[in-house]
Amino acid sequence: MGAWAAVEMDKWLLQGGLVVTASERGARALRSAFHRARQAEGLKAWAQPNIEDWRSFVRAAWTVRTVDGRLLLNAAQERALWAAIAATDGRAAALLEGPRFRLAALAMEAHELLCSHAPKFLRPHARASWESDAGAFSRWLAAFDATCRAGNLLSPAQLPVELLELLENPADTARRANGPPLVLAGFDRILPVQRAVFEAWGEWQEAPQGEPAADLRFFEARDDQAELAACALWCRSRLAANSKARILVITQDAAKNRGQIERAFLRHATNTGSLPYEFSLGVPLSQVALAHAAHLLLRWLSGPLAEHELDWLFSTGHAASSPAETAALQAHMRALRSRGWEQPQWRLQAFLRPLAGSQIPGEWADRMAQAQRRLGEVAGRTQSPLDWAELIPHLLEEAGWPGDHALSSAEFQALRSWQQALETAGSLGFDGRRIAWKEFLSVLTRTLEETLFAAESHGAPIQIAGPAESAGLDADAVWFLGATEEAWPASGTLHPLLPIDVQREAHMPHATAQLDWELAHTVTARLLASSPEVRFSYAAQTEGTEARPSRLVSQLAALPEPLPLELIPEPSPDALTLSLEDASRIAFPPGRVAGGASVLTAQSQCPFKAFATARLAAQGWKPAEAGLTPSQRGQLLHDVLHAVWAGPPGGIRTHAELLQLAGSEAWVAGHVQRVFEADLKHGLRERMPARYLELEQQRLVHLVTAWLDYEATRIPFEVLQTEASRQIELAGLSFKVRLDRLDRLSDSTALVIDYKSGDVSPRSWEPPRPDDVQLPLYAGFALEDGLELGGLVFAKIRAGELAFAGCVGVPSETLFAGLKSYSSLAKNALTVEQLLDWRDCIEQLAKDFLAGRAEVDPKEYPKTCERCGLQTLCRIQENQGAAAGEDEPENAGGSGFAEVGDE
Ligand code: SF4
Repeated sequence: MGAWAAVEMDKWLLQGGLVVTASERGARALRSAFHRARQAEGLKAWAQPNIEDWRSFVRAAWTVRTVDGRLLLNAAQERALWAAIAATDGRAAALLEGPRFRLAALAMEAHELLCSHAPKFLRPHARASWESDAGAFSRWLAAFDATCRAGNLLSPAQLPVELLELLENPADTARRANGPPLVLAGFDRILPVQRAVFEAWGEWQEAPQGEPAADLRFFEARDDQAELAACALWCRSRLAANSKARILVITQDAAKNRGQIERAFLRHATNTGSLPYEFSLGVPLSQVALAHAAHLLLRWLSGPLAEHELDWLFSTGHAASSPAETAALQAHMRALRSRGWEQPQWRLQAFLRPLAGSQIPGEWADRMAQAQRRLGEVAGRTQSPLDWAELIPHLLEEAGWPGDHALSSAEFQALRSWQQALETAGSLGFDGRRIAWKEFLSVLTRTLEETLFAAESHGAPIQIAGPAESAGLDADAVWFLGATEEAWPASGTLHPLLPIDVQREAHMPHATAQLDWELAHTVTARLLASSPEVRFSYAAQTEGTEARPSRLVSQLAALPEPLPLELIPEPSPDALTLSLEDASRIAFPPGRVAGGASVLTAQSQCPFKAFATARLAAQGWKPAEAGLTPSQRGQLLHDVLHAVWAGPPGGIRTHAELLQLAGSEAWVAGHVQRVFEADLKHGLRERMPARYLELEQQRLVHLVTAWLDYEATRIPFEVLQTEASRQIELAGLSFKVRLDRLDRLSDSTALVIDYKSGDVSPRSWEPPRPDDVQLPLYAGFALEDGLELGGLVFAKIRAGELAFAGCVGVPSETLFAGLKSYSSLAKNALTVEQLLDWRDCIEQLAKDFLAGRAEVDPKEYPKTCERCGLQTLCRIQENQGAAAGEDEPENAGGSGFAEVGDE
């Protein structure tokens, strides 16, 4: 309303006029302005201003004129009717629930467009020529009308049409004569039905727009980041000049770019601890923690939840009645994983089952079991959505939701919003339908996704809104983001359920490019008149593609100019973390260290990894998998080979015995069977289909048989030990190491073997930073006195790749006769120098660990980090980002990472 708003609107209201706004938000803004004005006048009390948004205005006017008792449908009820009608029409798209409800939403839109733009097509004979999808919609509309008539129901879209009929009724003349005159605020476009209603109402006018902004500029930024930074800096400077200023930031993709916008404003527009901005558009209630937790709990009472959903649920504190219960549940999740009992999905019954060594809080378990029993008593029935909605608070209360901590103001509002969503879902009982629990959960899910939640405004000086939502809002300054040729005027597509000629004739949204242009022109002109200071901006590069400035903005405002210096952030951004060189080290007390060779492997890969795993007991967790994980498969392979080479009575020990095995596949199958029975964890066997495990067994039998056939081609050998365990003392550290197998070769030397089912290479032993030190450690420090080292090899046992890979003294005389000279085994013969290098390197790693070397320094970033899992602890990505941005010479050659100095 611009300059008109402050003075003329007050006068209009005080003279008994009614202000009608295009949106509820616009009405709220005008009411606030009215109240502020009264406060400024020093008044203590005053009457409510006569301001209504369009929907409320229509509804109130219709209510006082009708006594027919029809039920006005809410959106969920109306969509359910359309969905039921679409389902009976036999279209394939309506067979599944998701597409059916999307179709119902489209039908609702089409109906609303007809009501607001072309009500004549509400009469069936006017649609007689509609064909294809439009023809189908026409049939649905006839069925919808019949359903509404039979059930005494009314769609809100039809309300203005109904009101118009009532207003045009001669009996309404007297009432109309006494109706207050109207002034319209924030209507970018008056729809045909709106214009007809206003005409029938009597006296009405549009609020005149103020003068266009005097201070107007259009900026070109290099890219999105620079554009957002400039906008945030400008907002900050406006607030610095006037702390009471109200600033409107217009963006067309607030939902999509919310995170990016928040980051820019947090970084460049915040001076104090409080947030100076708020978004006018809310987020789906399904994304609000309190509501999402309730929804997960309800789903869990009758079905499985994914493990990551449980992690999230227990982290919120909304799933238990006390912090102690929450902590115990989180500890239980950790215990499940550390014992290898993780599952991709958990049913509540399975989760509540007692597990040795870990305790679920007893009271929580009793409550959840009770809630499940309570649901179980009725879950098999169909009943009214109202009955389901009434049951839900009791179920959630049993579960301890929403937790015992005091709710914040935003949480309290979310709780209210959740209750309203539940009522909406329950309101589907309006037509007496009875549905099953599963169907009610689907209804609730949809309702949560469609309900937008925005915590009450805290009066932040910067409001971030979309172009349409900004209608009726005034501000001291406006910044319009994203004014590119592609984005403004905003284009769209024609509605798929209405004939094209009908849409064009009725000037429906996006029916022609000219209509889009005209609407954008009106919105731009309104924005220009809503504030004395207006800025437009666009990014010349968006996601790698070049963009042009909006022609419309260039015509109405000005040609784009480069950003002024004061709107370009300093080249060195404020660091979120400060790098500091912490030279202090806390030495590890000499003695035993848990983790064996993996500690030194970690020290070599990244000193912080060794520090975190061996001294802080940190672990990276891998998500549970539906089948066996690679490490579970690898363990089963190890167990089978251990059993095969364990010697009498069940196993063998020598090459000669291997050659004598007749029907080796059947013999191997016996070992595999026993290993699966004895070693496969109980929980795994229970949750995996028997047929899957059978196939895994078969796969293992083929793999081990093929491997034994490969070993049969070796020069005779004898297995000295399998799963050999040794204690090693090294530079003051004491390790327990385990070796898969130790063979005596034909020249009496020892071959150290490590089974691997992954892709490995002896290059991983290379100093100075080996990726794997297990075999060099064993070979260099753990061989028994009197045994001379003949070689160390990985036994690569993978389908399609069976081979030894490593370093052997004289492989053609001890491993395989006739070995080709160009084979890698022949080329990488073991040397004394190699052994000495490994020893030196390993000793140095042990000394570094003892000395407390713990810097975050991955051997090869990001490859080394990919399988580590400690990123959240070492914050490598953050540090890498900071390091990448630092080109200063003083950083050259250094790791750029902070050292960790204490435990
Ligand atoms: S993620 Fe990378 S940097 Fe972090 S501890 Fe692991 S290896 Fe080191």
